[in-house]
Amino acid sequence: MKDIIIKNNINLLNYTTIKVGGCTEFFAEPESISELIEYLKWVKLNNLKCRIIGAGSNLLIKDTLHNGLTICTKKLKKIKINKLSGLVEAESGVMLPVIANLLAHNGCEGGEWLIGIPGTIGGAVFMNAGCGELWISKYLLSVQVIDTQNLKVYSFNKENLIFNYRFSSFQTNKFAILSANFMFRPNSNIKKIADKTKENLKKRTKTQPYHLPSFGSVFKNPTNNFAGKLIEEVGLKGFSIGNAQVSKLHSNFIVNNGDATSEEIYQLITVIQQKVLQKKGIFLHPEVRMIGY
Ligand SMILES: Cc1cc2nc3c(=O)[nH]c(=O)nc-3n(C[C@H](O)[C@H](O)[C@H](O)COP(=O)(O)OP(=O)(O)OC[C@H]3O[C@@H](n4cnc5c(N)ncnc54)[C@H](O)[C@@H]3O)c2cc1C
Repeated sequence: MKDIIIKNNINLLNYTTIKVGGCTEFFAEPESISELIEYLKWVKLNNLKCRIIGAGSNLLIKDTLHNGLTICTKKLKKIKINKLSGLVEAESGVMLPVIANLLAHNGCEGGEWLIGIPGTIGGAVFMNAGCGELWISKYLLSVQVIDTQNLKVYSFNKENLIFNYRFSSFQTNKFAILSANFMFRPNSNIKKIADKTKENLKKRTKTQPYHLPSFGSVFKNPTNNFAGKLIEEVGLKGFSIGNAQVSKLHSNFIVNNGDATSEEIYQLITVIQQKVLQKKGIFLHPEVRMIGY
C-alpha cells in the first residue's frame, strides 16, 4: 500500500466545470479503492468532515473555506467490458464519455447519450443522470459502496435502491459509491452506434453552451414542462448578475463569463426561482448540488 497523500488548502475551482469554488482544508485524489478507504479511515481517526466529488459537473461550491477532507474520485478509472454479454464494471471515477466510446467500440448499444455528459459514474449514479426518458439507472445492475461512517463495504442490487428523475437513494445516506455494474445490449452494429454517438454530441454542442463553463441544467424540469422554456418566457434569457449569465443558447444553463463568483451564481438562481414563481406560479427545484449553502 503506497503512502496516502493529503494536500492542504486546495482551491476547488479547478475541480468544477463552472470554474467556481472555495478552498478545501484537505484534499485527496485516490488512485485505487483501497487508497480511498485509507482516506476515509484518516477522516474518521481525525474526526473530520468528508465530502466526495466526482468531476464537479453538477456542483456549486461556495467561495469560502470548507473544513475537512474533499475526496475527488476522478482517478478511480478502472473499467471492464464484456462485449459478448454487454456487462460493464466501472469504478466510480470513470467518465461517462469514456463509457460511451467504449460501448460504441465494442458494439454494445444503449449508452450513446452518455457522450456529452462530463461527469463520472459515481456522480451519475448519485444524480441518476439522464437524457430525456433515458436514465443511467435503466442500465444499472448493482452498486458497490462504502458507508463513510462505519467504513463497511456493501453491494446493492438495483432492486434494493430507489431511482427517480434526477434522484437516487444515495442522496439520502452517507455512502460513497465505489463502483457500479451495468448491462448494455451486446452484438449491435458498431457503425450504427458510433454514428448515433457522434450525432448526439453534435446535437448537444449545437443546442447547449459547451464553449463556456457551466454545470449543465440548473433546474429540474417541472412535471409536463421545461425549466428552460419557463425561464425564457419570464424574460430571463441572457440575464446576468456580474459574470454569471443565463445562457442565450439554452435558458436552463447558467454560464460563467469570466470570474463569476459563487455568490453571483447563487443570486442568479434565486432571481430565476422568484421570477418564475411570481409569473408562472411554479417553483423550480435546482438539479445542481450545492456545497457550503
Ligand atoms: C455541459 C454539461 C452537460 C450536462 N448534461 C447533463 C445531462 O444531459 N444529463 C444529466 O443528468 N446531467 C447533465 N449534466 C450534469 C452532470 O454532468 C451530471 O449530473 C453528472 O452525473 C455529475 O457527475 P459528477 O461526477 O460531475 O458529479 P459531481 O458534480 O462531482 O457531484 C454531484 C453529486 O454527486 C455526489 N457524488 C459524486 N461522486 C460520488 C461518489 N463516488 N459517491 C457518492 N457521491 C458522489 C457529490 O457529492 C454531489 O452531491 C451536465 C453538465 C454539464 C457541465
